[in-house]
Amino acid sequence: MIELKNVKKKFGNNEVLHDVSLSVNDGEVVVLLGPSGSGKTTFLRCINFLERADAGILKFDEEEIDLKRAKKKQILDIRRNSAFVFQNYGLFNNKTALQNIMEGLVVVQKRSKKEARKIALDSLEWVGLKDKADYYPSQLSGGQQQRVGIARAVALNPKFILFDEPTSALDPELVGETLSVIKKVAKKGITMIIVTHEMSFAQEVADRVIFMDGGVVVEEGAPDEVFYKPKEERTKKFLARIL
Ligand code: ATP
Repeated sequence: MIELKNVKKKFGNNEVLHDVSLSVNDGEVVVLLGPSGSGKTTFLRCINFLERADAGILKFDEEEIDLKRAKKKQILDIRRNSAFVFQNYGLFNNKTALQNIMEGLVVVQKRSKKEARKIALDSLEWVGLKDKADYYPSQLSGGQQQRVGIARAVALNPKFILFDEPTSALDPELVGETLSVIKKVAKKGITMIIVTHEMSFAQEVADRVIFMDGGVVVEEGAPDEVFYKPKEERTKKFLARIL
């Protein structure tokens, strides 16, 4: 279980996260929804220290980490157990698809190159891109690059994966292939927190939906509850705009 308690974050005078708490069970898929600027990405980035929160506790694997004061070892521990899928894929442009996936396996997990290569190739095959192993990101479509990003995350065999708007940089015709790979990841039983604006995907894949607005969690529940029987006025307004 991952537990986040009372997470706060300011950029200058702009308090982006007021006091956000969230628990995610093992194997659970949680989708974070909310208007632009509501702090979803910032919250996700605070979980694996891409952003340093001003306050809050992260409980993971019986360990309690103070997000503001976390030590290097604690940060590494979280990074070793998790993976992040970026909106803009986050691939190294000077490395091939295969090398992008091998990087974390060799550098972070200290696996031999031979072993890393095998895992990376299996992972590429799993996302349907084995034949593109030696292609550089610039030679791949956006959807293919994101599938490499997902293959890289899965190859690490993490306890949880954080997805930050994984399809929002894609042309509409490439969104579907990426979402179906994410659904495949969900079927593996990996704990996932996904920020997305894709409502029908959210409905299909989420065990629980969290609606955030103005740096707080406004409402949460099963997808059908939140989408069709929202309780809070702010949720109703948001859904009326996008559904
Ligand atoms: P979107 O759906 O548009 O991606 P979001 O809900 O993910 O929005 P965030 O990206 O977390 O929202 O941004 C929340 C607020 O924090 C915004 O007002 C944004 O301008 C601000 N912000 C985010 N990152 C930084 C930063 N590094 N420096 C300053 N302000 C930032």
